[in-house]
Amino acid sequence: MQQHANFIAGKWTPSEAGGFYEIHNPAHPETVLGRFPKSVKADAEAALDAAQAALPAWAETPGPQRGALLLRFAQLLEDSRKQLAEIITLEQGKALGESMGEVSRAAVEARYMAGEASHPAGQTFPSERAGFTCQTVLEPLGVVAAISPWNFPVVTPVRKIAPAIAFGNTVVFKPASLTPWSAVYVMQLLEKAGLPAGVVNMVIGPGSAVGECLVNDRRVKGITFTGSSDIGTRIYEKAARRLASVQLELGGKNPAVVFQYDDLEGAAREIVSAAFLCSGQRCTALSRVIVCEEQADALSEKILSHVARIKVGDGMLDGTTMGPLISKAQFDIVEGYVRKGVESGCNLRAGGRSLVENPDTQGYYYTPTVFDHVPPESPLALEEIFGPVLPIIRVREPEEAISIANGTRYGLAASVFTSRMDLAHRFATRIETGMIHINHGTASQAHVPFGGKKDSGQGAFSIGPTARNFFTSPKAIYAKW
Ligand code: NDP
Repeated sequence: MQQHANFIAGKWTPSEAGGFYEIHNPAHPETVLGRFPKSVKADAEAALDAAQAALPAWAETPGPQRGALLLRFAQLLEDSRKQLAEIITLEQGKALGESMGEVSRAAVEARYMAGEASHPAGQTFPSERAGFTCQTVLEPLGVVAAISPWNFPVVTPVRKIAPAIAFGNTVVFKPASLTPWSAVYVMQLLEKAGLPAGVVNMVIGPGSAVGECLVNDRRVKGITFTGSSDIGTRIYEKAARRLASVQLELGGKNPAVVFQYDDLEGAAREIVSAAFLCSGQRCTALSRVIVCEEQADALSEKILSHVARIKVGDGMLDGTTMGPLISKAQFDIVEGYVRKGVESGCNLRAGGRSLVENPDTQGYYYTPTVFDHVPPESPLALEEIFGPVLPIIRVREPEEAISIANGTRYGLAASVFTSRMDLAHRFATRIETGMIHINHGTASQAHVPFGGKKDSGQGAFSIGPTARNFFTSPKAIYAKW
């Protein structure tokens, strides 16, 4: 069985004292995929030393050269798309087609950031005094900690590392403990692309040891974190004590609001795809439908018909459209919510059960689940389940839809399906989310800013031109000639 290491100061390095842990295939939980370092604080500190040492030279490396490295990296991602996609599917579970899409998307985002490295940075101002020039420049933030979750084990790290290095920062990257294999592969590609030693370092290990150390170390000037709202909030509090910058991309309870829409078939197709891709384990997954009473019966029938076409199985097999859940813990969370929904009298219309008798040996397969007539105060309607469970909530008025859409702690993404322009505008302006999609699902694009409001995010949006707002620090320069 393959044994993997951390990547520190350009070298593959075992953990100083932490030993190893194993990861398993969620489609075949008894299959061990590899052994990974269970790093401790000392490993994170060694990586911080390396990132700190590499910072001055990397910050001075001209932007176009940093961009050239990212272009080589993007090409390597594309060239190894199939191999890397297979690793994603083996350790994360999602269908292979989705994994291929994830790698392609990572390549596009890296390429975009390669371009950003050569774009103008800073502004020149007219001076209020003769003989002066006034300008701002954008400096790198410094050493950045990148902490990522398990649901997108390639694109999320790339979304953090690519802009960090494009703008001259150095990085210590901590991948999710459940998906370190994809992270190792990404680091190998960066190494192949010519990454200088220490510019990006990776430390694999528990959030409670490695993550905490990165968050609390004064050398870390910025923390870019994607994960749960609860951990994100704790990181924000700790970073605030030492005035470190944060970029937090957190959970969601994303509504699909359907009101007087002419194409219910199209809405159902988009909703089902956005709700059940990656078994619903996506921060932007549509996780509740809010529909006007007069279209609710027709929409729910169409949703059920699309759900019936989902083929749950091993993501490596042809024809599978939905893989297993990532872990037994996630499986138990989903089961718990479904049980609560049934016990509280919600109308279970599809799924609601494990697909196999023994998930511990046969895979963490859960059937795509739809509840109808869900009261807006039900936990199914309010809490992030992060699984293949879609509650349908019926409403009478647009205002009621807006109030329910805004009635959770989250504010990441929303979809609105309506044929009325006035309603589209009203929903788009009144629903409190970072991203609104009109008449389609919640698919984002590789160059458009991405982020959330409320408990779904904090700090500059990632992706596209807003990334520089987090990864750079402005300095004003006045000169008297
Ligand atoms: P977690 O918040 O549990 O973990 C995210 C990362 O933080 C992991 O690398 C984890 O390490 C690490 N971590 C855990 N504890 C600490 C700590 N005390 N200090 C520093 N780091 C820590 O989230 P999940 O991995 O379970 O991911 C699922 C969540 O992520 C969902 O809520 C989802 O909505 C959200 N998400 C948001 C996205 C967005 O863009 N808004 C995109 C994708 C997911 P370890 O793995 O070792 O526990």
